[in-house]
Amino acid sequence: MSRVLTTFGLTSDRTIVSVPTQSGSAGGAAATASITVGGDRLVIIAGPCAVEGRAMILDVAERVRRSGASMLRGGAYKPRTSPYAFQGLGMDALEFLAEARAATGLPIVTEVLDPRDVEHVAQHADVMQVGTRNMQNYPLLAEIGRTGRPVVLKRGFAATLEELLMAAEHVMAHGNAHVILCERGIRTFEPSTRNTLDVSAIPLLKAQTHLPVIVDPSHAAGRTDLVAPLSFAAIAAGADGLLIEVHPDPACAQSDGDQSLDPTAFTELMTRLAPFAAAAGRTLDTRWGGAHPAAGIGHSANDHNARPGQSPKALATLRSGIERIDRKIVGLIGQRVELARDAGRVKREAGLPVIDETQEHEVLARVRELAAEAGLPYEDLHALQAYLIEISRRAQTRQTSPRTTGP
Ligand code: PEP
Ligand code: MN
Repeated sequence: MSRVLTTFGLTSDRTIVSVPTQSGSAGGAAATASITVGGDRLVIIAGPCAVEGRAMILDVAERVRRSGASMLRGGAYKPRTSPYAFQGLGMDALEFLAEARAATGLPIVTEVLDPRDVEHVAQHADVMQVGTRNMQNYPLLAEIGRTGRPVVLKRGFAATLEELLMAAEHVMAHGNAHVILCERGIRTFEPSTRNTLDVSAIPLLKAQTHLPVIVDPSHAAGRTDLVAPLSFAAIAAGADGLLIEVHPDPACAQSDGDQSLDPTAFTELMTRLAPFAAAAGRTLDTRWGGAHPAAGIGHSANDHNARPGQSPKALATLRSGIERIDRKIVGLIGQRVELARDAGRVKREAGLPVIDETQEHEVLARVRELAAEAGLPYEDLHALQAYLIEISRRAQTRQTSPRTTGP
């Protein structure tokens, strides 16, 4: 028997996949609604290729939410071409994703590779992703089918549309009707892009199936400069949403940095999507953008202001605590500069170059770990550390003769 469930045979209605959202830590009206994929509103799913740490995913979740993304993506289990490449943080990443959802309200989309992990991933993820390499992994599709959890099913990079629809049929035949198809580029002879986005797949799939179709321009292009134009093309061709890789610092990404937008580029893209959505008769589902009651991480200008219910006295106490810490920080910077100056003198006496860029890179490389330990955004700590190095550098190069104390 061929396709039955994915065709219009048994239904004339388009499937709208509903992804229930959990209210964030502070609740709120918007937080109780569902995200729907396949309706009038375009859904933008954004986040890093891989979850690289707790602070990192909390940071990027908050940033993509502010820019108007309605779901958060992030790989916990990564299907890497090389067995020696970063394979993902696994269960820890699932915990971090759940935390990011609690903080921002954004539902989580994450890939599952192994049928044995399906149950566990389903406990954490709102939407399970089947990657291009697994589109025809039938035991995996069956297991996901049994969960009934919404699934993003990516087209195999060498799969025909019929094969993609047959893969969807497998999920549906096991009882799961909540399938979102994803065109993510196919392999062609063209080497300028990582894959070739098959734009015609979008209207063809829409004609052949009632299932929603989203597009992943990041994996199609493999390069950031094409993510925006491919997104526009996808929307114009009738896509129901986009899946976009966003990394806080693409140059340092553990995977797919070349195709990941930084948060600023993502924000810009989001502002440019609206006219294409309007031309296609759709609106962007940006209900989570701007101030969300659950948002409390990272970059809010109000982070240190008094929360409702706190008295001015509590505010004064908080402020004096901040002042105490500032004093300590300044004292510590003074100590650091002094040590750097001493190190400069020792290097000079030994005939070594005063500026040692290898050493500076090592110091910066440690920041990732320190940021993760402190639960701080990597990008912010990196900028701070770079500035500290700069101050120490200046102190070292200014010192032309041995340091003297007193006048
Ligand atoms: C991903 O989304 O990070 C991914 C691995 O995608 P694909 O399966 O399309 O290569
Ligand atoms: Mn990726």
